[in-house]
Amino acid sequence: MSEPQPDVVILGGGLAGQNLARHLLLDTDKRILMLEKRDEIHSFHQKVGESSVQLAGHYFGKVLGLESYLLHEHFMKYNLRFYFRSGARKNDNFEDYGHISIRPFSNVPSYQLNRNTLEAEIFRRNQEEKDRFTVEIGATDLDVEIVPDGLHRIQYRMGTETRQAEATWVLDASGRNRFLARKLGLRKPMAIHNNTFFWWVEGTVDIEKLTSRSRQEIRLKRERGTLGHLPVFLATNHFCVEGLWFWVIPLQGKTSLGLVYDSKVLRHGDINSVEKATAWVLEHVTLRPGFRELARRHRPAIVSSGFHELIEPVLRREQIMLEVLANSIDPTPGGWIVKWRDETVCDTCGEACKRGVLAGEPYVYAGDGYSDRCAALAAERVFARDGLALWLDAEGVAFEPFDDFHDILAALG
Ligand SMILES: Cc1cc2nc3c(=O)[nH]c(=O)nc-3n(C[C@H](O)[C@H](O)[C@H](O)COP(=O)(O)OP(=O)(O)OC[C@H]3O[C@@H](n4cnc5c(N)ncnc54)[C@H](O)[C@@H]3O)c2cc1C
Repeated sequence: MSEPQPDVVILGGGLAGQNLARHLLLDTDKRILMLEKRDEIHSFHQKVGESSVQLAGHYFGKVLGLESYLLHEHFMKYNLRFYFRSGARKNDNFEDYGHISIRPFSNVPSYQLNRNTLEAEIFRRNQEEKDRFTVEIGATDLDVEIVPDGLHRIQYRMGTETRQAEATWVLDASGRNRFLARKLGLRKPMAIHNNTFFWWVEGTVDIEKLTSRSRQEIRLKRERGTLGHLPVFLATNHFCVEGLWFWVIPLQGKTSLGLVYDSKVLRHGDINSVEKATAWVLEHVTLRPGFRELARRHRPAIVSSGFHELIEPVLRREQIMLEVLANSIDPTPGGWIVKWRDETVCDTCGEACKRGVLAGEPYVYAGDGYSDRCAALAAERVFARDGLALWLDAEGVAFEPFDDFHDILAALG
């Protein structure tokens, strides 16, 4: 006996395709055939589209019945927030930035979604409906004949075999591929040409820690009166400058980071490989005055939360040879993977900080940022500027301010 024909053929097994199938399985008696051209249904490469608005939150939670799953496995979203540099301030602290957000918390929940796990879960639920849901993974050479007032004809290839189906509805969920729009000549040129880079890091990036204020000052800051005490890191946070924004979105156990930019501001082709990113750094990065002399006289080690691939070419350009302790980049076809130098959590600060690598001998430390804090506390003598200096000051820890490396050379004698 031949297989029953589907009522609905869904082209594409991404978020739209899986949602649509779920909705039809929950609320109708339709039989569904899903065609996915890739060899896997949920990618292990990062998928973007993590921040949901209230309409989507309601749809996922109430219509598709995912509410308790979402609350257990994802985060509820605390609003959309946009940050801008303030003209009159230095903008090296989180508090210096102006921000825009809708203050009241909506009474319709929305979520920060790990798209990979969400899609896998909806697919798992769909597959439980064996009688009404069939999926063909790795379906290529798709062709669709739209038949007005009749059954549409679909043809595709699985390996060497050509297969056919007929259905009342054909739904295009092929994403940016826009299969039917292309076939029917419905595509229109976009006026805006945006591009993006995105990545995940393990753990929570709490943007409120991008400050030199003490923990007490952060808790008691005046803006709390209007902002309240909800964790800002749970928002979809956008740091904006003209022509681009940088997003920070929390996921369970991870943080999604990404840059969206107008192609007039940044050209993708200029920085889309480690070699090109390095060339960009070599062209734009200069050393603070006095570093060459300091390197020659004191042979300091460079302990950086940056990357070997970006630091060492600059040192070579300057003909400086020093020990560098930093992270590295593993450029895989699926994206760049960060290889952390050391992931051991420090007993003092509770983070994988720089202090551990320096333990043993007494040392003099010079730094300017967040990642320098814990290591600076354990140093015999500290030279600090910018955020590190402000933070040490707020914590009541003694340090010697410096502007450039000539100041440190003079102080060391
Ligand atoms: C940088 C960026 C940030 C974003 N941020 C957000 C956000 O914060 N919130 C939000 O809601 N949205 C966001 N979006 C949009 C969101 O990612 C997309 O709207 C969403 O992924 C679309 O899902 P989809 O199922 O339509 O497409 P996809 O997830 O791309 O799925 C399409 C599927 O169709 C398959 N396919 C393609 N062609 C064929 C074919 N011929 N035959 C069979 N299968 C085919 C593909 O392999 C794929 O599996 C963002 C998008 C970008 C680019």
